[in-house]
Amino acid sequence: METKITNSFSFIKKYFVLIALLAAASIYLFSQPQGVRLGSDRDVIPGYQGWSGDPDTLTVYIDTSFTAEEKDSIRTAISRWNDAGSVPRLRETSDAPGNISFTRHTFASDTLGLCTNSTDANGDVTSSTIQIGEDQGGLSLSELATHELGHAIGLADTDEAANPSDVMKGTGPTNGSDGTLSAHDSTELAAAGAAAVAEDTDKKVAMNPMAILPGEFAMLDFDLGEVFPPDVIDQTGVFVSPIGDPYLFVESAFIEANLLRVGVFSDPLHGSGNLYLAVELLFPEPYSPMRFWGTHYIHMFPAEPVTFECPFSFNEDDGNVHIDWVEQCTYPLQHPLRAELVVDGTEHIYQRGGGNYTLMLDPGPHLIELYVDDYQVNNAYYAQDILVTGVPESEKAIDFVVYPNPFSQLCRLECPDDTRITIYDMSGNIVCEIQEGIKHWKPSLDLAFGIYFIQFRTEDQIKTVKVIYRN
Ligand SMILES: [Zn+2]
Repeated sequence: METKITNSFSFIKKYFVLIALLAAASIYLFSQPQGVRLGSDRDVIPGYQGWSGDPDTLTVYIDTSFTAEEKDSIRTAISRWNDAGSVPRLRETSDAPGNISFTRHTFASDTLGLCTNSTDANGDVTSSTIQIGEDQGGLSLSELATHELGHAIGLADTDEAANPSDVMKGTGPTNGSDGTLSAHDSTELAAAGAAAVAEDTDKKVAMNPMAILPGEFAMLDFDLGEVFPPDVIDQTGVFVSPIGDPYLFVESAFIEANLLRVGVFSDPLHGSGNLYLAVELLFPEPYSPMRFWGTHYIHMFPAEPVTFECPFSFNEDDGNVHIDWVEQCTYPLQHPLRAELVVDGTEHIYQRGGGNYTLMLDPGPHLIELYVDDYQVNNAYYAQDILVTGVPESEKAIDFVVYPNPFSQLCRLECPDDTRITIYDMSGNIVCEIQEGIKHWKPSLDLAFGIYFIQFRTEDQIKTVKVIYRN
């Protein structure tokens, strides 16, 4: 008897630690900016600023599960990026792990390949893992490997509909050249390389509500954030040039009130996605110069501005975590969408093929963030704390269910009859204990709206479910 009490006590203590962790993660969640992601320049991966330590060379390790012939296909991918001028250079290593590592993986979903970039606290990439699916969906290994390697060196997916010959297109069949880089892939590589060496340079997205069209003149307006005195504006030198982009021309650049107005003309062959401008403003003394990356969207099918949401649901089975968002996304237009998933703030996941994610995560709490955009002006963000139990489905004898969640007046609790139910707040304080036999929770009128944890306890199981109580 004595032993039993001690055991169950330590079990409960563990849960308090978990609840505290969840509470901390939730606070973090709500301090995140919701909705608009500033600087959503997504052909170059958002926030990409190169690899930690600015290496000249990145090593690439190819797992021993690949045959000699398959290794040659991956070497083709390495050569393509080097030939196109990748900085850093890529060099194969026989020592595991490399900075970038290729492995084989059997995906439980229709994912063909997946690249995970791990970043440090500064946001610099520290390592990259590329998983190649057993089913490559009709793509050759050299094409799929070239695509995933592009993510590791800072390129994001491009819009298949507008850029069918890009190796970096996020969906669809072969690019038609077995993974050879398109002109657009090459300009994106140049921009990614410039992003890696641009130190402390802010990015500003032009204020235009829609993407500009390739082949036309357009005026891009950047908000300079403050109104400069007229005499300062008169004496300000404005220097604007395209970054790594032979298909874009700057025709004019001047300051008007608090706007920098840049007239650009693009070649009709300009790829659809982003454009990048190096901007330098030289104010007279005593003002210091201002430099930033100007970016905006250029697209052959411009999307009108809309707002939408991208909530996801989470469930777990036998070691796999499913993050499903495609069916719930409220995007109202017909443009294709692109997603990036970030786990615990440091694991940035890009996948080829399929919208929903199936991942393997360690048991414990995780913060999952999802960014979705239409490759141009519209984007949405959603974040959720999840708790991965790691318990195989077969051992989950009993289901504890709370619905609706979020709820406003009363939530129903589905559980076996002899379950003890306790409600905790985010600090781990007991809010109330539900009388045995009652299968709902109706918070008292003076209880604050917010996040609560419902703990179910039976003889041999304990489970905590996060609920949101709101108006
Ligand atoms: Zn991709």
